[in-house]
Amino acid sequence: MQEQAAVKLFDVPRKHVLYAFFLFLSILIVYYTVVMTGGTEFAFTHLMYVPIVVAAFLFGMPGAVSTALLGGFSLRMIPLNVIVGTRQTPNTWIMRTVMFVLVGAVVAFLFRRIRRFQQKEVERSLQNVITGLPNANKLKQDLDAIIRTRRPFSVVLFQILNLDEINDYIGYEIGKQSLLKAIGLLSAQVGDETVYSLFSDKFVVILPWHSLGDARSVGLNFLAQTREPVVIDGFSIDLSIRGGIVHCPLQAKESGELLQKVGIALHQQLTEDALSIYSASFEQKKGERYETMLLLFDAVADGAFRMVYQPVVDLKHPGSAALEALIRWDPDIGRKIGPEEFIGIAEEIGLINEITRWGVRTVIAQIKRFQSRGLPVKIALNISARDLRDHSIIEYMQACIAEAGIDLALFGVELTERGIIQNQKTAGFLLSTLREAGIQISLDDFGTGYNSLMSLMHFPLDYLKIDKSYVSDLSARVNRILVQAIIDFAHNTGRQVIAEGVEDEAQVDVLRSFDCDFIQGYYFSRPLPPEEAERFLLKLREDARNETVVS
Ligand code: C2E
Ligand code: CA
Ligand code: CA
Repeated sequence: MQEQAAVKLFDVPRKHVLYAFFLFLSILIVYYTVVMTGGTEFAFTHLMYVPIVVAAFLFGMPGAVSTALLGGFSLRMIPLNVIVGTRQTPNTWIMRTVMFVLVGAVVAFLFRRIRRFQQKEVERSLQNVITGLPNANKLKQDLDAIIRTRRPFSVVLFQILNLDEINDYIGYEIGKQSLLKAIGLLSAQVGDETVYSLFSDKFVVILPWHSLGDARSVGLNFLAQTREPVVIDGFSIDLSIRGGIVHCPLQAKESGELLQKVGIALHQQLTEDALSIYSASFEQKKGERYETMLLLFDAVADGAFRMVYQPVVDLKHPGSAALEALIRWDPDIGRKIGPEEFIGIAEEIGLINEITRWGVRTVIAQIKRFQSRGLPVKIALNISARDLRDHSIIEYMQACIAEAGIDLALFGVELTERGIIQNQKTAGFLLSTLREAGIQISLDDFGTGYNSLMSLMHFPLDYLKIDKSYVSDLSARVNRILVQAIIDFAHNTGRQVIAEGVEDEAQVDVLRSFDCDFIQGYYFSRPLPPEEAERFLLKLREDARNETVVS
């Protein structure tokens, strides 16, 4: 016991002993300076404030007061004037010592206030402002700490996918409560482990000693609990949560890398149950995506695309067909990149408007070329939902059409159902503007967006393109009923119908019997380069003429 007390006594950090020694030394220096400069009646006594302030900084109130007392008492010995030998009255040295103590105490008090304030700032920087729980900074600190212990562990990150919707439609407070509820459920699940609250909708837990499999069971248990709606203020709220897992040191050994990889795991969604373990192959795909992105910038700058044209055969007017322009890109990288892939990336990184403008120029130039050869053919260009946010695209189309001097009726655009619905607010206005500009509009991929026919019919549309998923399954009675109903409805509201993805004669027969207007698909032709498309159109016209002559 005694031995322990002795150890404690000498447990004072070495640097503190050093500081105390220097303080003592500086009191001595001040003492001798005052002696050498003639005595306490001169201003050098004020030098004693230096060790007092330093002591207040280093040791707080007790340090400041004891240094002040020691300094005060030490100066007491020195006469007012060393040469003459006049002694100080008690009043003089007592008042001086009191001043020392007072200043020391005030400075120590101020230092303490500043320190508390700083400490609060540090605490705040480690807390999420909304939830008051430990935040990303704290998570990083704790990750670094556990990594130093060399213990294996897993990190599980969750995200509430519909939190924005809850905030927007039910209310911010309910959104916050939902988040806290989810975090509460996870905390109950993981016992002593801290749950960190990151940004608005994400939260994380570190699970020491947990293998990927262990962490997955914990995560799945939590997700199973959140499948039940949570009740907040009488609202029954369905949380949609997904998660990602990463293991240290198996998959990453450093906090930054762990956080990056668990984020990737969250987004990769390889599994059905909305909880995925980090996978390197997913990252490879991401790498490819990144490569595509970089190449795409150059491709846009160089206009390294080409258009192919797929005939849309007119069933009501034999010999005539329109074309759909489909973009192609053939970068020399040893793998194929289809339009769906690179158009998706271009939309994400904001290059789509440039690509669409390239499409507008190319299609209009093609129409002009066909027109100059006595082949007035309608061509439709696919435009992306993102293009609807760029008002000037319509003016651009008008300017290109005017400049080329082509017939306005020959240029049309295709817009997907999803694109229109996702941009409901702007879509209405832009579609009307397109209509006013005289540009024909087709509604692409109809039937894939879960929208009622009615809601779409408010928009000014000229053609409905029934998606290939319905066409490929026309043998199913329910699809046949549906397709016929769509065609009838479209006709009754003054629209025409194009069936996409028609691959065999049986499909053509069924669609013809339903009074479908146009047919597009491999049955007639695959998308073709311009010269071949021209040959197709000429042959179609020729065949129809011959048939009329024969009949
Ligand atoms: P989409 O607009 O629905 O185009 C129809 C897709 O179906 C084309 O694929 C076409 O080649 C394919 N197709 C045509 N007939 C048949 C058939 O009988 N059977 C089957 N299975 N498929 C058929 P593609 O060319 O790969 O284009 C894919 C998508 O990429 C397009 O779907 C469109 O959404 C987008 N896209 C293509 N070109 C452009 C473009 O210039 N701009 C924009 N924004 N998107 C484009
Ligand atoms: Ca299309
Ligand atoms: Ca389509």
